[in-house]
Amino acid sequence: MVNFVGAGPGAVDLITVRGKRLIENADVIIYAGSLVNPELLYFAKEQAEIYNSAEMTLEEIIEIIISSEKENKNVVRLHTGDPSLYGAVKEQMDMLDEYNIKYDVCPGVSSLFGAAAALKAEYTLPDVSQSVIITRMEGRTPVPVKEDISLLAEHNATMAVFLSSSMLEELSKRLIKGGYREDTPAAIVYKATWNDEKIIMTTVVNLAKSGNENKIKKTALIIVGDFLKGTYKRSELYNPLFTHEFRKGADN
Ligand code: SAH
Repeated sequence: MVNFVGAGPGAVDLITVRGKRLIENADVIIYAGSLVNPELLYFAKEQAEIYNSAEMTLEEIIEIIISSEKENKNVVRLHTGDPSLYGAVKEQMDMLDEYNIKYDVCPGVSSLFGAAAALKAEYTLPDVSQSVIITRMEGRTPVPVKEDISLLAEHNATMAVFLSSSMLEELSKRLIKGGYREDTPAAIVYKATWNDEKIIMTTVVNLAKSGNENKIKKTALIIVGDFLKGTYKRSELYNPLFTHEFRKGADN
């Protein structure tokens, strides 16, 4: 059995209870060494075989899984944050399907949410934005033309940009070209929930300058939007006048 497990954004105790149990029971752990906190491996059995996928190809990863399966070993494939975002998990699942190897997925806390916690922010504020756009600049992996940041920027929604902290100049240009005001608040959240977490508050036009000043090159999320400003309308959910399924409001 193979379990794809979300390791969480960094802090060791932000893995799920299920994820921790799966690590404790694993005979083989293949972890994404570039971003997964290695301290999570302390939960593993002493005799567990540990592999760092940062040094491996997809084929090598699958080979280890296949040989472990033959020996009836429990395999954990440990991904950073939640596996469903930029995790390259689908290609692994498809290969396992080819070999008739069963797998399950245990979700994790994405750095998207680690960053919100670090910022003590709410991405979806009434009268500000009710949508979160999760995207990235193209790297070796291309981004579909229709999803270019300058097009997504037209919505002026809350935006979280992954995998792009080395391209802040260009990111900034596209955000502004698309329609964010130059002074739209932006945050660079470096290593959210790790001990060396850093939050840099800036604006869309100053992203590159702030990134350079703080020597941010990787492991950061760029979060953009007026939700960072903190002006918004109160929710209807907790409005004393508002009646809903679970509560009678004062107007009734
Ligand atoms: N599946 C992961 C994302 C993997 S892609 C998740 O759900 O978080 C790797 C990118 O995620 C990095 O380039 C960075 O943009 C972001 N990232 C991962 N961990 C982070 C953290 N602790 N703080 C800020 N950004 C992080």
